[in-house]
Order: sequence, then C-alpha cells, then structure tokens
Amino acid sequence: MTETIPISRILFRPPVEAYSLLIAVTGGCSWNRCRFCGMYKTRDYQTIQEYGILPLDAVLKQIDEAACHNYHGFPVFLAGGNATSAPTDYLVKVINYIRLRLKNVQRVSCYAKSLDILRKSETEMKELSRAGLDIVYMGLESGSSKILRIMHKGTNAESMIKAGKKVLNAGIKLSLYVLVGLGGKKYSKEHVIETARVLTEINPTIFRFRTLHVSQTVPLYDDIESGEFELLSPVECIKEERDIIANLGENVTSEVYNDHMNNYCYLDSKNIKNDREHFIKALDLYINDPQIQKMPRKNLTVM
Ligand code: SF4
Repeated sequence: MTETIPISRILFRPPVEAYSLLIAVTGGCSWNRCRFCGMYKTRDYQTIQEYGILPLDAVLKQIDEAACHNYHGFPVFLAGGNATSAPTDYLVKVINYIRLRLKNVQRVSCYAKSLDILRKSETEMKELSRAGLDIVYMGLESGSSKILRIMHKGTNAESMIKAGKKVLNAGIKLSLYVLVGLGGKKYSKEHVIETARVLTEINPTIFRFRTLHVSQTVPLYDDIESGEFELLSPVECIKEERDIIANLGENVTSEVYNDHMNNYCYLDSKNIKNDREHFIKALDLYINDPQIQKMPRKNLTVM
C-alpha cells in the first residue's frame, strides 16, 4: 500500500503559475484514471494523493497567513488537480476572501475538468466569474473521442466543446492543453484532425502544446512495452503540431504556447490567426532539417 501525501500539500501547478501564490483548495484528482497521467497515481493505479476538499477554515487560514506575510500583488493559483470539483459557494467564498485580504491580485486561476464544469449551472459559472476567477486550465489532450476513450479520460469531444464554451460564455478565460502524440502512430491522423476541429469549435483564449512522455510509472507504459502503443519520434511530434495548426478554422484567434520542457519546439503566438502562416513555415523548417529528423526522443524521467 502506497503511503499517500496529505491533500494540503501542493504537488502541481502550471509552469505559467510558477511565481504565483499557491493556495491548496483540493488535493489529488477526483478522476485519477487517465492512462497517460502519473500526477496522482502509480502505474498500478495506487493513489499518491487522495482526492479531497480542504475544510473552508483551512483554506481561509492560508489566505490570512499569506496576507500576514505581505503576499500582495501576486497572481493566485487554487491548487489541486481539479479545484472546480469543489462546490460553487465554497469557491466563491475562497475567491472573495482572496480579493478581500490580498491587494492587487493580478489573477485567480485553477485547473478544471470538463465534467466539473458541465455539472455547474450557467448561473454558478457566472458567480465564479463575478467573484474573480479569471482563468481555468483544462486538459483537452485530444479532440478525438476514440483516443480519449482509449486513454480513460472519462469524457469525450462533445463534452469538451460544451464545457469549453460554458467557461468562455461565463466570462472566464480558458487555457486548453493539447497532448501531442497521444494517439501514438496508429491514431496520429485522427488526433490531428479531431483536435483541430474541437479547437475550432471552442476557440479557447489560449491553447498550449504538451508532448506525451511516458514514464515507467504510468499505466500507458504497459502498452508501449507490449508494442500496442508506438510513441512518435520528435519530428513526428513537430509535424502533428504543424498539422493541428494548419487544420484550424479561420475563426481561431487563440494564443498558442509551447511553454513546457517536454516539447521539441518553442514557438509562441499571441494570435494564431495572424501568425498561422509564419508558424507553419517555421515548423516546416524544423521538419525538413536533417538534424531534427535524426533527433532522438528526450529521456525525461521527471517533469
Ligand atoms: S490528466 Fe488530469 S484528469 Fe486525468 S488523471 Fe491526470 S490530473 Fe486527473
């Protein structure tokens, strides 16, 4: 039996929140079954950190302590795998208290899961927006329902579209993660076409590329060992990214970032509609570079 880490301990936050004030609200992930993810579980599905919601008093106490230590003027990240799984009135109290006790908070953000968003009413989403939840980070991973099912993501493309639109309609910014390589070699084409379709439907504020790296601690590793799942080479990953961008609809105005060390290229755009042609040309240069064609995969053991 794996010893679990207390839910008050913050294990993850997006790289863009590296200099933010982190407030633990939930711990672990309420789903915790995605086959590619080792954030809160081991390969044999042993939970590293149980999912739970901290008592409100414990959260308010963290905010009081931050105020006492003059943590004013920082962005605030509400930690836990999917803080939006907490009840809306609880989250509204937390956000209101942050804005009451801390001055000049630049933004309040958290991770979200599509099913948590779908469970909330439009009124609840607007309450969160009014309280000052500025942005949520959501793992789209793939726009293909088939790939999401294989990976036990617990949702499908249409739910992702509904949830994404609901966030945006409430006036909350939406940052989606796209996991390059999640279809493996077998479903690479489907991953590209369907991901571009879902991104076009949602037109998120931001989308970020992440590249699939599979450590020995996650369930998907078994499929690689058995030959069932074949990882993409670095140049194939760059090509997937290029093809997703090339297949976006003309309406897509999202910011696009490659802001993680697990990626093989680091191009960014403040508006992909304006930068799409440059982006594609730059990625074609990578793809046609003989050095990059021979580049081995990164051997990431820690992320
Ligand atoms: S990818 Fe997200 S939803 Fe899936 S298990 Fe990991 S933290 Fe939970």
